[in-house]
Amino acid sequence: MPMVTFRFYEELNDFLPRRRRKVDFEIMFKGKRPIKDMIESLGVPHTEVDLILVDGKSVDFNYILQDKDRVSVYPVFESLNITNVTHLRKIPLRRNKFIADINLGNIVKYMRALGLDLFYDSSLSTREIIEISKSENRVILTKSRKLLKFKDVSHGIFIRPGTTTEQIRRIIDFLDIKDKIKPFSRCLRCNTLLNIVLKGKIIDRIPPKTKEFCNEYVQCQSCNKIYWKGTHFINMEKVVRQILDQPES
Ligand SMILES: [Zn+2]
Repeated sequence: MPMVTFRFYEELNDFLPRRRRKVDFEIMFKGKRPIKDMIESLGVPHTEVDLILVDGKSVDFNYILQDKDRVSVYPVFESLNITNVTHLRKIPLRRNKFIADINLGNIVKYMRALGLDLFYDSSLSTREIIEISKSENRVILTKSRKLLKFKDVSHGIFIRPGTTTEQIRRIIDFLDIKDKIKPFSRCLRCNTLLNIVLKGKIIDRIPPKTKEFCNEYVQCQSCNKIYWKGTHFINMEKVVRQILDQPES
C-alpha cells in the first residue's frame, strides 16, 4: 500500500492527537487521495492551512498523493517567513469583513467595538452562514471544525478556547489587520457605522445627568442608537486597550 510522511507545523498541531504533534508520522492509503481530503481526515480544517510542501515543493489542495511523498503543512503564521512558494490562496487571507457563527456573541461586541465589520445573527443556520460568507466575502468565525470542512468554505477561522481578548487578538494577528481597527466607529447592536450627531438634535433622548457632562455624541445610521462616553464606554475602552495591547491613558 502507498505510504506518505506528514508533518504539521505550529498551531496546526492543536488539531492532531498528541502522538502526532510536532513529529513526522506515516499514513498508508488506498487509491487516489487528494491532499486536501487527507489533511482534513487527519483533523485539520483546510481553512487553517496556507501552505503545503511535498518534497520541498509547494502544491495546491488538488494535489494527488504519491507513494513516499514527504508532506509539510503550514498555517498562515508560519508561512509568512517562507518566500518563493505558492500560497494556497491567491488573494491572501487579509480580509477584514466577518460573519460569526452562533454562540460567539461574546466576541461580537468587542470586534464591533474595534470597528471591525462583523455580521451576526444567532438565528442563522450553518448553510445560511456559509452563503452570506460567500456572497459578501466575509471570513467565518466559528468554534466548529465541521463547519470549516465544508467544500465551499474558503475563508474561515477556527476560534480556539481562551478569553475574549485572546480570541480577538488571534484573529487580528492571523489576518494581520491591526491597521483596519478604528475603535468605537461602529454600532455594537447592528454593525452599522456611526456618525457624529449634534447634541441639540437628540437632546430629548439623553438622560438628564448625561446632558450635563457630555457634549459629544455619535449615532448609528441604521438603528439610530446613540452613544456617548459614559461609564459603559470606559469599561469597554479598557478591554479594547487590552486587546490592542495599549497602556491605559
Ligand atoms: Zn445600529
